[in-house]
Amino acid sequence: MPSNAAASDNAQDLPPLTATSPPALEAENIHKRFGGLEVLKGISVTARDGEVISILGSSGSGKSTFLRCLNLLESPDEGRIALGGEELKLKRHAKDGHLVPADPRQMARLRAGIGFVFQNFNLWPHMTILENLIEAPLRVLRQPRAQAIETAEALLAKVGIADKRNSYPAFLSGGQQQRAAIARTLAMQPKVVLFDEPTSALDPEMVAEVLNVITSLAEEGRTMLLVTHEMRFARNVSSRVIFLHDGRIEEEGTPEQVFDAPQSPRCQQFMASHR
Ligand code: ADP
Ligand code: MG
Repeated sequence: MPSNAAASDNAQDLPPLTATSPPALEAENIHKRFGGLEVLKGISVTARDGEVISILGSSGSGKSTFLRCLNLLESPDEGRIALGGEELKLKRHAKDGHLVPADPRQMARLRAGIGFVFQNFNLWPHMTILENLIEAPLRVLRQPRAQAIETAEALLAKVGIADKRNSYPAFLSGGQQQRAAIARTLAMQPKVVLFDEPTSALDPEMVAEVLNVITSLAEEGRTMLLVTHEMRFARNVSSRVIFLHDGRIEEEGTPEQVFDAPQSPRCQQFMASHR
């Protein structure tokens, strides 16, 4: 498999991986099939604290399925997942053979640590923006209401939509809805945030406002995995880039390596067609 030789030790500016600082997120040998179609053929990714990893690849290469397996929106067939050094306990489902959580309480706790921002925002339409933000902190984290509201208001200010707190999602633009969705995710204080094409459902004039929010999160040192087709953004924001092809990591390295000097013909072709 072609890959950059330096891929494993490229991030010199990141803190060293030691026994006292387990990776924020570790996924090892993730396999997933849908019926006869093997969509993920053994994907391993380790995200250290503060890393921003962009996942690139053609449509159908398995990017969304991989992100969805990481927080068990899909059940993988093989593999292990650990968050902050704590391995998610999985067992094999008796009927379909998938790996499913063995300990629902651990699962709920760990899943709360993995935020997910969807392409289509997925805000609850019958709740105001503020209610969207406080719902999970109240129910899952059991935060006192005053604290949840205070945090939510600070987050709405941070993403620039403090004035929308009492509006319903339908009255916001797509860019504002996505910024609200990001704020809602952050309200759960996740260790890692996964983004699946966060701007691809937006009108072009709203893309930048969402990318700017994600860039500011990167600058704060948040750990993020990001599927995107915004190449210039991915290049600027990422500490590492992974190129998926046909359910495998075809190439991996620093943005400079993968964007400027791709090694595999498929990655070369992909980069050439996305300039
Ligand atoms: P990407 O996000 O890179 O475009 P996906 O992970 O969405 O790719 O899909 C990878 C492959 O898995 C595609 O061939 C897709 O049709 C298939 N796939 C995804 N989800 C399902 C599903 N729930 N059932 C059956 N096939 C699926
Ligand atoms: Mg996808």
